[in-house]
Amino acid sequence: MLLEAREVPLGGIRGMSVHRSLPQRDLPMVGAWCFLDRFGPQVTRMRVEPHPHIGLQTVTWPFVGEVRHRDAVDSDIVVRPGELNLMTSGAGIAHSEYSLGDGPVPLDALQLWVALPESRRHGGPAFEQHADLPVVDLGDGARATVVVGELAGVASPAVMFTPIVGAELHLPAGVRVTVPLRPDWEHALVGVDGAPVVAAGPAVGLPPQSLLYLGTNRDGIEIETRDAATLFLLGGEPFEDDIVMWWNFVARTHEEVEAARDAWEAGAARFGHVVGHADERIPAPPLPHVRLTRRRRRT
Ligand code: MN
Repeated sequence: MLLEAREVPLGGIRGMSVHRSLPQRDLPMVGAWCFLDRFGPQVTRMRVEPHPHIGLQTVTWPFVGEVRHRDAVDSDIVVRPGELNLMTSGAGIAHSEYSLGDGPVPLDALQLWVALPESRRHGGPAFEQHADLPVVDLGDGARATVVVGELAGVASPAVMFTPIVGAELHLPAGVRVTVPLRPDWEHALVGVDGAPVVAAGPAVGLPPQSLLYLGTNRDGIEIETRDAATLFLLGGEPFEDDIVMWWNFVARTHEEVEAARDAWEAGAARFGHVVGHADERIPAPPLPHVRLTRRRRRT
């Protein structure tokens, strides 16, 4: 199943637009992965003011440019290409993201969300940054950087709460390699750069931003290139539950989302205070008039 990304405006009036590959109507999750945006490549001034999250981890994986991340656990750091930035919301956190300097700069990055399981989603917030990530040699000069979770027995140092993999795959021109997968996990491939061809039953071309859902029951997937290509592999154990996702919140019920929205609008302590900010913030949009319902996973 090949799914196209859609263009989504982000961050208010002068905001930037992003390409969203996940969730899709027919695919709310891949393992615990529930959201994937690519912002860029573009030249822009990024000003995402403080906003809240619940029930998830954000995984920020830059390709080009630097972004200043500030959050309510006193992180004030610069996010750089090749470095994983992982923010765990637990029951509530707030953060902001600014490009460096006052003018437009080249930016390109993935931002992904991982749904937290019941055992962790009510806990406290945390942030970690990892510059030293392990690499799996796929042969013929191809390699996989294990950003989170585990691939081929090689584990990222990032603290995750469900069995999962997120890996950047880089393939040189003119190779055919097999990426090892776990048959009990579901997987998807997302195009980042180049035009790789994936042997998913029929051969499927994977242009940038598109997402190829691979399902479960595969012990590997063959990828072929003519020119060099970069892809991102998402996978993991099928998630334990269906989720309710609205705005920046991952929950299980309409009432949980409503309570989180009310708390943010009231400036409640639940989300903390983003270091270095005064009272600037992104207000929550109005709730829809219909009840939010769980999105059913593919099984
Ligand atoms: Mn955010």
